[in-house]
Amino acid sequence: MELADIKSMTKEEIGAWLKELGEPSFRAGQVFTWLHRGAGSFDEMTDLPKKLRESLAAKARITRPAVERKQCSALDGTIKYLWRLGDGNCIETVLMRYHHGNTVCISSQVGCRMGCAFCASTLGGKVRDLTPSEMLDQVLFTQLDSGAPISNIVLMGIGEPLDNFDTVLRFLALVNHPDGLNIGMRHISLSTCGLTDKIDKLAEHQLQLTLSVSLHAPDDETRSRIMPVNRAVGVEKLLAACRRYFERTGRRISYEYAMIDGVNDHDWQADLLAERLKGLPSHVNLIPLNEVKESPLKPSRRVAAFQKRLEGHGITVTVRRKLGGDIDASCGQLRRKAMTAG
Ligand code: SAH
Repeated sequence: MELADIKSMTKEEIGAWLKELGEPSFRAGQVFTWLHRGAGSFDEMTDLPKKLRESLAAKARITRPAVERKQCSALDGTIKYLWRLGDGNCIETVLMRYHHGNTVCISSQVGCRMGCAFCASTLGGKVRDLTPSEMLDQVLFTQLDSGAPISNIVLMGIGEPLDNFDTVLRFLALVNHPDGLNIGMRHISLSTCGLTDKIDKLAEHQLQLTLSVSLHAPDDETRSRIMPVNRAVGVEKLLAACRRYFERTGRRISYEYAMIDGVNDHDWQADLLAERLKGLPSHVNLIPLNEVKESPLKPSRRVAAFQKRLEGHGITVTVRRKLGGDIDASCGQLRRKAMTAG
């Protein structure tokens, strides 16, 4: 019999399960709390009767990733973890320390199938989706290992979160639970390459999280060139979905724009971007491109000029501060290194 992945279960599901074992309802809260504090075995759950601990261990397993590699930045305290999962696959998590709190950047899949030309995570394709417990473990064990209390989460690591939709929604409910880590939705950002049907589906849940859309170009020719996902939909339809999302949730969308030399950093593209975002409450986040060894794309030298041009059109713009510059802190690169080593 396959052991159940109990940390992927909601408190209610654990309760229903314990009821079948003839346990009182308050046990669900005890088990859920232990799991979300990072307990590695049922034996650690000392307020449960020994018999119950044994019957749980016979039916369920508790996931726990192993630290395969850990890199700490001497510049700003950023820590990058390469975790080894139960089946041997590796994923990355980054801990960043901002003045507004400690933030973890977590992965949603092992690899990615979206094929963006500038991204290291997609080079080997997608291996598999993560489970809700594997997403939660990244937050839990980063906090436990580093001792840094986590207040913010960004789903911007390896993978396309909306391509693992049900798991991501379950993860959000788990991490937001008052008996668990209790991280507020307003402290969570989800980044997508722009799967329009899934953006519509997400809107229905009316979550208070911040949606970030990786736009990277305002015109179809450029966007389709660097982001194959654009070939099927196009910028206009993507922005129409963003508009529907805003109308449904009232949440302003953040647009990510990685600045690539000679590709998406021309003045006319700033003008077109501003025109396309007109009337759409938005925030543009310019990201200095992280160079990926396997890609010929280079960082733009026009970030400040592009920012100024957008601001001239009344767009709110920020430029992402680069953290962990001494440890390759952008996601996908450490896993890639481990995969290609030797
Ligand atoms: N799949 C999701 C989330 C993962 S990537 C998405 O596409 O949004 C998180 C962000 O980092 C995205 O905006 C992505 O486009 C960006 N990114 C990927 N590789 C990058 C690189 N080499 N330099 C700068 N940003 C990069």
